Amino acid sequence: MSLIENAYDSFAESLSDVERAKGDHSRWKFAVLNLVHAVELVLKQKLSDEHPLLIWQDVDRPGRNTVSLERSIDRLIAAGISLEDEDTRAIRLAVKWRNNITHYEVDLIAPEVRENYLLIFEFLDKFHEEHFEGSLSEHIPETHVQTAMDLVESFKREFITFRGRPMHRRWARKLVAAQRVHSLYLDGVEYPRLRWGREHVWEQDWMDGKIPSRYCRDCGAELDEYHGPGCVLEECPRQGGQLFGCECDWDASELWALDADEWETEGEPSADGE
Ligand SMILES: [Zn+2]
Ligand SMILES: [Zn+2]
Repeated sequence: MSLIENAYDSFAESLSDVERAKGDHSRWKFAVLNLVHAVELVLKQKLSDEHPLLIWQDVDRPGRNTVSLERSIDRLIAAGISLEDEDTRAIRLAVKWRNNITHYEVDLIAPEVRENYLLIFEFLDKFHEEHFEGSLSEHIPETHVQTAMDLVESFKREFITFRGRPMHRRWARKLVAAQRVHSLYLDGVEYPRLRWGREHVWEQDWMDGKIPSRYCRDCGAELDEYHGPGCVLEECPRQGGQLFGCECDWDASELWALDADEWETEGEPSADGE
């Protein structure tokens, strides 16, 4: 079976997980894993079409490891295939969610997983359309076509262009709400949050006259705004490193509430958005 045929298989499998997720939210993680696998295979097929050696991690040693999803971004660009910022973000999102699912024993919140699924799905659909014959739906069993169409519709209905990129409608609100949380507390001791671009990792850059990008690539916060809830780039103000998932035993905060509870309380649409 060719790479692309394998990709269609994984995609169809992912859609069947989406269908099952209506009754069993835990299926979302399999839906994402299969979708990310489809993305990986589609990108590899594209690289292979440019030159068969490009699918190997080390082109001087074909037959060993194939190129990682993350590295395929640079390689596609090097091969002259145009990727917009939005596309590279979607690929990195795919990497991130695969890691989230495989390496952390976190309880995934179904609506959040679904939202990220939609973003990755949209990228796959678009990339396929641009580089391969026909639409994705033409390559999957009839039984899953309606699900694919529903996902396209959900994406259109729920996502807006925010700061030049697709974001879920709800996110803009959460980002604004996160601006109200200036500090975190641990046993009553105050730790002021670090704003985007003011993390310690940027100190040298600022001194060298280099300015971090205007918007945080994970949450869309603008320079000197606070990150959105759960942003992977927010730094722990107590110990450095990533705040989200750090080991500090923080006191209750609106930030955590924004990250978790709102997902559950907004009357989430089901997988097909009904
Ligand atoms: Zn951020
Ligand atoms: Zn911490």
